[in-house]
Amino acid sequence: MKNKPIYVTQPTLPNFEKFTEKLKELWENKHLTNNGKFHQELEQKLADFLGVKYISLFANGTLALMVGLQALRITGEVITTPYSFVATTHALHWNGIKPVFCDIKEEDTNLDPDKIEALITPQTTAILPVHVYGNPCNNNKIRKIADTYGLKIIYDAAHAFGVEQNGKTILNWGDLSILSFHATKTYNTFEGGAIICKDAQTKKRIDFLKNFGFADEETVVAPGINAKMNEVSAIMGLLQLDLYEENRIKRQMLTKLYEENLKNISGIRFLKELKKLKKNYSYFPVFIDKNKFGKSRNEVYDLLKQNNIFARKYFYPLISQFSTYKELSSAKKANLPVATKIADQVLCLPLYAELKNEEIKRIIDLILWK
Ligand SMILES: *Cc1c(COP(=O)(O)O)cnc(C)c1O
Repeated sequence: MKNKPIYVTQPTLPNFEKFTEKLKELWENKHLTNNGKFHQELEQKLADFLGVKYISLFANGTLALMVGLQALRITGEVITTPYSFVATTHALHWNGIKPVFCDIKEEDTNLDPDKIEALITPQTTAILPVHVYGNPCNNNKIRKIADTYGLKIIYDAAHAFGVEQNGKTILNWGDLSILSFHATKTYNTFEGGAIICKDAQTKKRIDFLKNFGFADEETVVAPGINAKMNEVSAIMGLLQLDLYEENRIKRQMLTKLYEENLKNISGIRFLKELKKLKKNYSYFPVFIDKNKFGKSRNEVYDLLKQNNIFARKYFYPLISQFSTYKELSSAKKANLPVATKIADQVLCLPLYAELKNEEIKRIIDLILWK
């Protein structure tokens, strides 16, 4: 008999009675969306929790990315990573911006800052890096380049909820940071997202843009879109905040268990634990080198799948390989050797708070089975 399926992630849900209690309140006040009571409360609480000044909630992370680019009036070309979820580049495409793919670094799988400068042209207006798996980018190097060439930085921080370096959130880096609260992320509001910005003026513009451009009942200041978070999602967000830290610790323990068991295996690499980093332990990627390990990434993926364990190849294929983008000159595999290699090696193993130690041991046994 097969064991029950194990997916790469599974959301932790808040107490059902607490949820319905708040829903009852919503049923009474009937203010279902448009900056309602719970939306306002969540913006306040998230700003405190994350240690940021201004946050605007969104219906999802993709719309937040699209609006963020609009808010800063980004045009022309933007340098970004092919090693991410496809929404990162789609947000550029929807704004009529040409993505320019830059290779990544093997150590942290993030944009390689030393390869950015060569890609800058007179059309370049911004850099769109991603903190992949919640691992911080090299912000100092990226910021120096941006300052030298007068470029904006928008961080796709969809994986970086709660991440701190040297005791400070990384979400204040760059001009804007974008979060996703999709159900598969460590902190979720069913669907949701946010933009973090640094001044009241920018927040105001972002808030207009996510509500059709309305500044007041009779004034539309920009061709905005509808990207607002609704009240049910905001309620979910409020309750998820209470669960976050406990679940983070659970995921940390599960990560240690994986690492203990895989650390001396030739051909399996995982990301280095960086010092002074408060991680969110949202993913556990391993990189499988077939020549040393014996089995390829795809063989391990298939073997797990046959056993009802659904690991994911985040991120394969590279965004630059999708039909919309593959004809771009920056999409050539020869220009992206590290990203191409890593995409062929990576496998994200199941990781979520309710995963059992025994389940991890079973996953490890299967990976190591000869
Ligand atoms: C999830 C994700 C997004 C998109 O967020 P949604 O809320 O699903 O729209 C964007 N970028 C990255 C890196 C993501 O992982």
